[in-house]
Amino acid sequence: MGMGDHMLRESGMAIYKFLENTNPLLTIPLTKCSDNLDRKELKENLIETMKEAAGVGLSANQCGVMERAFVMYSDIKKKEIIACFNPKIVTESDEQILMDEGCLSWPGLWLQVRRPDGIEASYEDENGELQEIALFGLECRIFQHEMDHMEGTNFTQKVSKLRLSRAKKRQQKRKKLFDKSKAP
Ligand SMILES: [Zn+2]
Repeated sequence: MGMGDHMLRESGMAIYKFLENTNPLLTIPLTKCSDNLDRKELKENLIETMKEAAGVGLSANQCGVMERAFVMYSDIKKKEIIACFNPKIVTESDEQILMDEGCLSWPGLWLQVRRPDGIEASYEDENGELQEIALFGLECRIFQHEMDHMEGTNFTQKVSKLRLSRAKKRQQKRKKLFDKSKAP
């Protein structure tokens, strides 16, 4: 798949456009990364796009790049970012916790999602080297959230229809308040 529309920056890096969250491309489970994928370029562009959108994680398919890859903050305090190619969850903790999640593809929508508290995961970095990582807390949450995107699902499918419709109403209310506060 092509890289889709994007605007070029002077540096050569690009900010991707987001697909609409109704786009069926987002429901396709992603298989192994293409052999000819320029991993370094994809990493840079995803990081630029994530930062521009003030996100903490971003999957390639959210921008129409159909590769099994995402970027995320692996340490938010230290502002460390990793790019994960062909990521895998190896083990999950038995303990599950509820945490608020948002998604760059659903701006303003917040959902309480239950997921394992800790995971062990593996991925290839941009140089093709296998990395293993143990994650807890928010960073663990981000990895799992992005893994949903890899499988063609998303966080709205992790809650009941009732919870989702309530959260969407809250999202609309906040949007109205926000629009009002912006009015002259
Ligand atoms: Zn997301």
